[in-house]
Amino acid sequence: MQNPDVIVIGSGIGGLSAAALLARYGKRVLVCESHTIPGGAAHSFKRRGFEFDSGPSFYCGLTGSQSLNPLKQILDVLGETLPVIPYDPLGHYHFPEGTFAVYSNAERYRQELNKFTPEGAKEFQRFEQRLLGLYDAMKGIPTLALRSDWQVIPLLLQRYLLSLGKMLFNLPLVQSSVGSVMDATIKDAWIRRLIDLECFLLSGLKAEGTIAPEVAFMLGERSRAGVEYPVGGSKTIVDALIRGLQNFGGELRLGVHVKQILVEAGKAVGVKLRNGDNLKAPIVISNATLWNTYHDLLHPEDLPAGYCQAALDTPAVESFTHLHLGIKADGLQNLTGHHVVVHDGNKDITIPGNTCMISIPTVWDKSLAPPGHHVVHAYTLETFTGWERNDSYENRKREKAQNLYRGLERVIPDVRERVVLELIGTPLTHASYLRRYRGTYGPAIAAGKGMFPSMYTPIKGLYRVGDSTLPGIGVPAVAASGILCANTLVDVGQVLAVL
Ligand SMILES: Cc1cc2nc3c(=O)[nH]c(=O)nc-3n(C[C@H](O)[C@H](O)[C@H](O)COP(=O)(O)OP(=O)(O)OC[C@H]3O[C@@H](n4cnc5c(N)ncnc54)[C@H](O)[C@@H]3O)c2cc1C
Repeated sequence: MQNPDVIVIGSGIGGLSAAALLARYGKRVLVCESHTIPGGAAHSFKRRGFEFDSGPSFYCGLTGSQSLNPLKQILDVLGETLPVIPYDPLGHYHFPEGTFAVYSNAERYRQELNKFTPEGAKEFQRFEQRLLGLYDAMKGIPTLALRSDWQVIPLLLQRYLLSLGKMLFNLPLVQSSVGSVMDATIKDAWIRRLIDLECFLLSGLKAEGTIAPEVAFMLGERSRAGVEYPVGGSKTIVDALIRGLQNFGGELRLGVHVKQILVEAGKAVGVKLRNGDNLKAPIVISNATLWNTYHDLLHPEDLPAGYCQAALDTPAVESFTHLHLGIKADGLQNLTGHHVVVHDGNKDITIPGNTCMISIPTVWDKSLAPPGHHVVHAYTLETFTGWERNDSYENRKREKAQNLYRGLERVIPDVRERVVLELIGTPLTHASYLRRYRGTYGPAIAAGKGMFPSMYTPIKGLYRVGDSTLPGIGVPAVAASGILCANTLVDVGQVLAVL
C-alpha cells in the first residue's frame, strides 16, 4: 500500500479492531505486525498437528442478539460472523476443600454455591443483582457509538438520552470497585474468596482493585449472552478481523517490526522499520503496550520531560509460566474445558503459582488435535525478574511447570503418562513472542487508584489502543479500545451511518 492514511503498529485484537473499523470508515489502513503470526496475545500456533491458543480461550457473546460484546459489534459492521460452540458449565473451580461447577445460568450457579454455603449463595444473589442492574443500564448504549472526544456528549444526548439517564443513575457503581459492592452485600468468607478469584481471572487484581463495570459486564454477558468457543480457536476471531480489514481495502504485513515512531515538529509522521525502511502516514496507532510505546518506540526528546518515566512507573501485572500439551484422550469422555485450580487455600490467590488456569478446547472442537488427542493449555502467574537464558534455564522452567502439572492432576490424574507433546513457556517466552514489556498481562491500575490512560498521547497524530488503554485488559475491552480510537478519528456522521 502506498501512502496509507493510518499505520497501526501491531495486530493484537486492539490493533486489528481499530484498523478494521477505520478501513470500514474508508481510511487506507496498513497494519505492521512484528510476529509472523497475527493476533498478539490471542494468536494460535501449530505444532505436530496440535493447534494451541497462546492466550485467551474464554469468550462470551461472540454471536447472538443479546450480546454487548464490542468485538461482536465490530464483526457485525464488517459483515463477519463466527462459527461458535456454546457450552455450560463454563468451567470448574477446584479449591483445596472441593470442586464445583460454574454455570452461566445464574440459577444453576446459585444452586452449586448453595451446596457449599446456603447463606453465602443468598448473599451472592444480592451482589449479582446489583451488578446486573449496571449491566442492564450499559445495554442501552452500544460501544460502537462511543468515542474519546467531546463529540460523544451531543451524540449521547441526541440518540441515547434515556439510556444515558440510566447510566447516570448508576454512576456511583460505575466508579466503584467490586470490593465495595462485595463489602455492601457479602459477609461469607468463602463467597468473598470466590469473587476475588473471579476478579483476578479478569483483571489480574482481586475484588478491591477491580472496577465494578468489568464484573457487571462479565456476569451479564455470561448469563444473558452465553459462553461460546470459536470453532478453530482464537485464530478464527483474528482471521475474521483480518478478513474484515482486507475486504475494506486495508493491508496487514507480518514479520514487519517497527523500530521507531517517526516524529517531526511534535507530530507523528510515520514509522521506521527494523529493515531500515521508513513508512509515512499522518496517523500512527500503537497497539504495543504503553511501556513499549513510550520506552522503545519513541526518543525521550519526542516526549515532554518526565513523561516517559511516568509511563514506565505504571504498575504492571506479572507475567506467566505456560504449559502447552498434546495428550492422549482415551478414557476422558467426561472431561470439561475450563478449570481453575487453587493449590493452597491459606495463600493469596494472586501469589505466582498458587492459581492455575487450564483450558482444553478440544472438548468443544476436536479439529484442534489429531484424532484421539486433546490440546491443553495451563498457565499461572510468574514474576519476570530473575529469568535469564543461562545454563539453569531449562531446569528452572521444568521446575516451574510442576505447579501446572499438579494443577492438571486435579482434572486428569494420570496426565503425565498421557503427554505426547510438551511445550513450556516462561516470562521470557511470553515477552519475546508477544513483544510485551516484561511479559506483563497488562497494567495493574487498581480501582480508585487511577484510570487506564486514554488513546491520546502527547504527540499529535499518535494514538494508542490495546490493553494498556481504556477500558482495560481482555478481548472485549481491547476491542472497545479499538472502537474508541477509530470513532474518534472520523466524523460523527460516519459512525452514525455504520450504526
Ligand atoms: C495467558 C492469557 C490468557 C488470557 N485469557 C483471556 C480470556 O480467556 N478471555 C479474554 O477476553 N482475555 C484473555 N486474555 C487477555 C487478552 O488476551 C488480552 O488482553 C488481549 O488479547 C490483548 O490485546 P492487545 O490488542 O492489547 O495487544 P496484544 O495482544 O499484546 O498485541 C499487540 C501486538 O503488537 C505487536 N507489536 C508490538 N510491538 C511491535 C512493534 N514494535 N512492531 C510491530 N508489531 C509490534 C505484537 O507482536 C502483538 O502482536 C488473556 C491473556 C493472556 C496472556
